[in-house]
Amino acid sequence: MNKKLKASSPSNVLRYLWGSAAATIALTTILSWWLLSGSWDAWKTARSDVIQFDHFYLALQVSNDLASERAFANELVLSAPSSKAKAWQALEASRRLTDNDLAKMPEHLLSPTLLAATTEQLGRSRDVVDRYRSAGIKELGNAQQAIDAMLSATDFYHEAMFRHTREFLLMEPAALGPILRAQALGELRDATGRLGAHLLIPLFTKTPITIEGIEDLSRGIERINVLWWLLDTQGDESGYLNDFRDLLKSTHKQYQEEGAELINTLMNESKQGVPFSIDADQFAARYHASLSTFDDLLDTYLAGVKKHYLNAEKEALFHLVLVVIILALLCLLTMGLIFYIRSRVLQPILRLNQIATGIIAGQHNETLGDGSTTEEVQELFSSLGTLGNRLREQTRLSKKLQRQSDEDPLTRLFNRRAFDTLAGELLQQANQDSPAWLIMMDVDRFKSINDTWGHPVGDQVLIKLAVTLKKYSRPGDVIGRLGGEEFAVMFRTPGHEDITGYTTRIQNEIRKLQFTGPQGETFSITASFGVASGWNRALSEMLSEADAELYRAKNTGRDKICGLPDSAPQ
Ligand code: GH3
Ligand code: MG
Ligand code: MG
Repeated sequence: MNKKLKASSPSNVLRYLWGSAAATIALTTILSWWLLSGSWDAWKTARSDVIQFDHFYLALQVSNDLASERAFANELVLSAPSSKAKAWQALEASRRLTDNDLAKMPEHLLSPTLLAATTEQLGRSRDVVDRYRSAGIKELGNAQQAIDAMLSATDFYHEAMFRHTREFLLMEPAALGPILRAQALGELRDATGRLGAHLLIPLFTKTPITIEGIEDLSRGIERINVLWWLLDTQGDESGYLNDFRDLLKSTHKQYQEEGAELINTLMNESKQGVPFSIDADQFAARYHASLSTFDDLLDTYLAGVKKHYLNAEKEALFHLVLVVIILALLCLLTMGLIFYIRSRVLQPILRLNQIATGIIAGQHNETLGDGSTTEEVQELFSSLGTLGNRLREQTRLSKKLQRQSDEDPLTRLFNRRAFDTLAGELLQQANQDSPAWLIMMDVDRFKSINDTWGHPVGDQVLIKLAVTLKKYSRPGDVIGRLGGEEFAVMFRTPGHEDITGYTTRIQNEIRKLQFTGPQGETFSITASFGVASGWNRALSEMLSEADAELYRAKNTGRDKICGLPDSAPQ
């Protein structure tokens, strides 16, 4: 019941709040970092894939350029003097394309040394081919050398390209399918080109193809068939390359019907020993034309795969941005929530707590809510204000009632019930060093005062006696009217002298009191006293003892004090 209510210290609560907020922010940061780094890595990988694939694309394009240039070189070498100018023009355009794409190759893909070596090799091959710019073939050996020189220039370059492909696949194993397919496409372009080159000299010299030539052609056809098969079966990227399969089929069909058919016809003619149906010049042009769709095929494929990588990068970037936005919003929301709860809920609640504690402690609180709180908390403030007012009114009333129930209405001294309670508590605290003293006092012959001067005068006597008792008592002394004209005083004091002095003084002061009757007559009174003392005993016992002493005082002449230590009745 007596439990003391304590307001929580605001600084403590705020410390907890900030602690929780810091923990929340730390957790959010860890989570954010984890999500961000994941998305960041995914985006970086996708970005790197795009760059790597770009390089691969470039490398493959140069390979394609070289194959194309090789075909135009063959056409120039073998062309009749009348068509030399046209063939040279085509070759020059093709060379410009090759040089242009070669210049775009980044250093890490084709080192300056390797680029210099490739360019030198290509330059040498071109020099050999250049001899046929205007002149026809004088010696077959030289023509074959020109054709072979172009082949070796492309071989040199392919080495560098394969090295890069390997590096790319190490970084991105998932790209294996698309890269192998792209490489197969490049290979196909190269292999078909080389196949035609084997027939050029026999056609030019109008001599049957040698045994080695037939073997080379068969191996080449075999290689081409394997590449077609590879292209047709491997890879699942057809999911994002819708038209590629159709283009592949139509290119294959066109090559079979034109280029492959032409080679088969010429091989058969050679085997049967009949003259070739077309010359080298015509063959080079027709065969080259049959390969024209190969470039489209490779471009379509590479553009499709690149688009796929770009989309993947875009998606990864979108995901990254989304994660950043969501995390930023989450952070703002958390901070906002913490500040809102702190300023609009927590601080007002702490204030309410202080107010409630103040009300319980009986303090008046002028300022309640300051309007910066939520509506509900504001209502709580006003309810608490009303409650405080009611509580104060109740306290005042209950104090009044308490006083009334404890008080004798005439003398305003404690009544018998209150005296018993308070004197009992005082007795409990008494000990040997500081015992409790009980003085019972009864007005002598009070009945005759009433009878002589009237009841109201008797009342005045009682009131004046109460004032006298109060006047000579100390705060903490318990003074009560036990009934009628009988009073009692209880207090604690260590010495006998104090009690003797006090009682004697009260006795004398009462003797000195002057009262006035209804007609202005004056009279005085006396009183008898009975004293008892002790500790660690019952109040009733002490009251009986004091009463007995008072009785003794009455019986031995009145106006006396009985029960004082070591003293006879006075
Ligand atoms: P003793 O010396 O033996 O004490 O005689 P006494 O007359 O004082 O004692 P007694 O008990 O015979 O009379 C007490 C009287 O006190 C009786 C009663 O009328 C009167 N009395 C009790 N209460 C009051 C009161 O409140 N006012 C007045 N005026 N008289 C009261
Ligand atoms: Mg009396
Ligand atoms: Mg009496």
